[in-house]
Amino acid sequence: MLDVARIREDFPILASEVNERPLVYFDNSATSQKPQVVIDALVEFYSRKNSNIHRGVHHLSEVASGEYEASRTKVSQYINASRPEEIVFTNSTTGSINLLADSLSRSYLREGDEIIVTEAEHHSNLVPWQMACERSKAKIRMLPMEDDGSLSVERLKGMIGERTRLLTVSHVSNVLGIVNPVEEIGALASANDVMYVVDAAQSIPHLPIDVNRIGCDFLAFSGHKVLAESGIGVLYGRHDRLLDLPPSQGGGGMVNKVTMERTTYADPPLRFEAGTPNISGALSLAVALDYMSDIGLRDIIEHEEMLTAHMREGLERFEGLQLYGTADPRVPLFSFNIDGIHHYDLGLVLDKMGVAVRTGTHCAEPLMERYGVKGSVRASLAFYNTIEEIDVFFESLEKAVVLLG
Ligand code: PMP
Repeated sequence: MLDVARIREDFPILASEVNERPLVYFDNSATSQKPQVVIDALVEFYSRKNSNIHRGVHHLSEVASGEYEASRTKVSQYINASRPEEIVFTNSTTGSINLLADSLSRSYLREGDEIIVTEAEHHSNLVPWQMACERSKAKIRMLPMEDDGSLSVERLKGMIGERTRLLTVSHVSNVLGIVNPVEEIGALASANDVMYVVDAAQSIPHLPIDVNRIGCDFLAFSGHKVLAESGIGVLYGRHDRLLDLPPSQGGGGMVNKVTMERTTYADPPLRFEAGTPNISGALSLAVALDYMSDIGLRDIIEHEEMLTAHMREGLERFEGLQLYGTADPRVPLFSFNIDGIHHYDLGLVLDKMGVAVRTGTHCAEPLMERYGVKGSVRASLAFYNTIEEIDVFFESLEKAVVLLG
């Protein structure tokens, strides 16, 4: 069992008050809070180790370069990549998918090719593909979600045809919270020789990620959603796929040889890391992943299952509440509306009671359109949240409804 009271002591911000109430932070899918070890690692880096990497022979540059590369190794082990070179550091999930979509639009995708995306994708895993289609004249095809928010592999199977070149899904949608069958989809993609890209932005803080088991060619996530600093992201790419990929940005650090006439590029991953990267961010990600491993994903999952069940029970009992996405399995992330009340007003009143939730379209406008709503409230929990906080959340929600109704 997770000792949540002890774990909460690691997160200084969780002890703060908002509007003279203890903070109930239920906006973890937007960004996670940071444990003291991550904050300390950043202070330590800038106090003792700061230097640019890969370009110096002096002591500090060696130290910073070593730690940056050690972080790459740590990330590769955490997601069970075959080697550290399969990890490209970017600035975020958004940065990772843009890099990939841009490169593929200039190499792999051709006029008439089809890219399958789901109806539930975050704009970050939709708009870059639309932009890639503008350039390559490939086409997007949308896989609709089922009424309960799940993804039908059968329906997906029916959509894959001769022109399908790429398939991308989120492991967990940031609106529905449902875990998609990414391994089954991986087997389908592989059987049809379709490139497979997974957006793991919402699964990385909740579930073990094993790129080999998933069978993906590429996978993206952001550090800030898994306890690390913002401005650091990961693009995992299978080594042979990365070798075939042209760079998306040119600059220092990504070259072999440069003349006025011609430049040759470095091998992956440096080919994709032009310019000075987010060095402290990479270090913070390694510390964050170590922190997750030290607590243990098994205990995290067990605690989160309890939070999920308690949330689910409360939401189902709540009068006039509509939950978007009812299928299982899921992570503790719930989007909903309450009859006759605007989601934005609910968010504002909850904030007055110290409860932080997100409101709006959650960067998933096609899914909002599907449900015929302009937005929703989203409560998203992390392993450091408690059953008591859920009770405060529901009491606050009841008061908010009385006030606004
Ligand atoms: N994909 C999903 C499923 C997300 O939830 C998010 C963040 N809300 C992103 C992509 C984009 O992440 P970032 O803003 O860190 O690039």
